[in-house]
Amino acid sequence: MGTNNLVFLEVIEWFDETGKELVHRIPEQGSGEIKFGAQLIVRESQAAVFFYKGKACDAFGPGRHTLKTANIPVLTKILAIPWGMTSPLRAEAYLVNMKVFPNLKWGTRDPVAFKDSELGLVRLRAHGVFNIQVVQPILFINSLVGTMGKYTTEEIEEYLKRVIISRLNDYLGEKLDSLFSLPGQYDELSIDLQKRLQKDFGRFGLGLTQLYITSITPPPEVQKAIDDKSRLSVIQDLDRLVKMKAAMAMEKASETQGDAGSGLGMGLGFMMPAMFAESFRPKPGGDKPGTGGGAGAQPQDINCPDCGHAIPKDAKFCPYCGHQQLVFSQCVNCGKNLPPNAKFCPKCGHPTDEKPAPKFCPHCKTENLPESVFCNQCGEKLG
Ligand SMILES: [Zn+2]
Ligand SMILES: [Zn+2]
Ligand SMILES: [Zn+2]
Repeated sequence: MGTNNLVFLEVIEWFDETGKELVHRIPEQGSGEIKFGAQLIVRESQAAVFFYKGKACDAFGPGRHTLKTANIPVLTKILAIPWGMTSPLRAEAYLVNMKVFPNLKWGTRDPVAFKDSELGLVRLRAHGVFNIQVVQPILFINSLVGTMGKYTTEEIEEYLKRVIISRLNDYLGEKLDSLFSLPGQYDELSIDLQKRLQKDFGRFGLGLTQLYITSITPPPEVQKAIDDKSRLSVIQDLDRLVKMKAAMAMEKASETQGDAGSGLGMGLGFMMPAMFAESFRPKPGGDKPGTGGGAGAQPQDINCPDCGHAIPKDAKFCPYCGHQQLVFSQCVNCGKNLPPNAKFCPKCGHPTDEKPAPKFCPHCKTENLPESVFCNQCGEKLG
């Protein structure tokens, strides 16, 4: 920390020329002092999240915002953080790109270990593509940046790929007896894997819109062993099957583009809050709102998804039932959405600052992701 790397922020904005950045920290290094009355410019399909003392605590939708105590209600009222004319607010801002990120590639860097009932230990390589979209920006920053310490787009993508591979490994370990039976179980396996990963990604505030496996391949010696056993070219057929399925699925997906933000296809009821979803809807008249400065733009009401009351579209909580439109964090134990200043989960009583612990394999001591079932390194079941 210290004060050497201090950046005074008067204008906070970010334009991503590459279109590939999921998230951008301002300042990029060190800590920021946000001046009272600073300008925050959030572009279409972005969300700005304030990060204060290791926690994401407030979010802004598209538009130009003048930052004052009154419009950082969560920070200043709920968390009771003093901020005035004289003292700048020590915080960082994360600008999150809320668009769909299509065709991200995942794959095993080191092959995963699969215990095959007929072939013994097989080291498999697998590859595929996936699409993601941030749907709950505060939860996203809290879980990946706050809890996991992943600050850049590369680090986040790398982590998500690890999650995919670890779950694939678990599914193969749990559901598959032998590679020989994979062709018959492929559909079920890929559907289950996608569902499970939607749940995992939902905990990071991400919608996983598509996930495909494009190849599953054993090493050449195993392939040879299989051929030698004259079990026909099972593996070649397998590879062909996987490729065909992926092609079919991708074709289907390209027909159903364009419901970004609607929550469709993301599963498990993870809707994007109205204050961000707005910028994905077609605009009547073609005029782009958002930069006109709040005052003129009349936010029309939406209905609370929980109690149905009409509430302002930029509401962070429903004033009638308290339903969180913006999810801050979730209980690591039971998954309940937590209020911003909770110390314990109101549902199960679990402390909210606890991080999910990695699982160390009792056999080979390799570190696996929390909630892993099978060791990626040796294929043994984790205790
Ligand atoms: Zn409500
Ligand atoms: Zn809980
Ligand atoms: Zn192990």
